[in-house]
Amino acid sequence: MSFFESKSRKYLNRTERITDKKSFSSDDELRETEKRLNKRFTDIPWEQEGRMEFDISSKKGEPAHMVFEYDSVIDEKMEDYLRPLRRVPDGPYIVDESRQESVRRIRNVVVTRGEYRFDLSDFAGDDLSVYIRLNPDPYHTTSFYNPESKLIVVNKDVTSPSGLDILFHESAHRLKDMTENPEYYKHLASIRGRSIRRQPIFTAERVALIRDERFADAFALRTLYRLLGESKQFEDLKKWTYGVNLKSYYTQDNHKDVTSRNLLGTLTDRLIHR
Ligand SMILES: [Zn+2]
Repeated sequence: MSFFESKSRKYLNRTERITDKKSFSSDDELRETEKRLNKRFTDIPWEQEGRMEFDISSKKGEPAHMVFEYDSVIDEKMEDYLRPLRRVPDGPYIVDESRQESVRRIRNVVVTRGEYRFDLSDFAGDDLSVYIRLNPDPYHTTSFYNPESKLIVVNKDVTSPSGLDILFHESAHRLKDMTENPEYYKHLASIRGRSIRRQPIFTAERVALIRDERFADAFALRTLYRLLGESKQFEDLKKWTYGVNLKSYYTQDNHKDVTSRNLLGTLTDRLIHR
């Protein structure tokens, strides 16, 4: 084993130990946690378009203030993403109107607490599209940032702790894409595609993928900590991040969404490699 090979293995082992420590002890515990994390911060309904504004109170210190601006316009990138989801038998792919209904385009998100401020437009440039799906299809549960088309899709309501977490996580990928060598990020996307399809990848490639995921996770958790502070929600998010999300990159077998991920391997491949 070469020096680099053994260094990579050490990194992977360390990551595995972290994910094991945060693992859920039972399916019930995971389900209960997810129920808490999917509960919205507010009762304000999503309209077709508008601006949603509310506070999240915290035990200590001032509340976090959230502003979401959104509409229901489906741009070309999102249409491309939705199109393959329904196919007329022996006919062409068509956009399923019912799936569009639960889709919102996020124009901007600004969240502030004290000195801290997260502004999605800082990540946007002029080519980023951000969408959320309010009623995620059980067979299509993955959220992603596609570095080719510059599209973020969050398959959750972003006014819930887990939706917000995913939005921050995908924003971190976007940030990396804006700041890294663009070829490198495309290369990572191809590794990710092979990993999702469970094709073999080199140890060093898995390390690169996990480093990127850990960066995005750390960014999301840091942002959430600044907004939520020490709280049950933050503890839940930390546990879910390491015990489920990161773990899924370590070993696909342990991911609860592994079946749907496999079903969608081909689709994801198309999205990533286009
Ligand atoms: Zn990620």
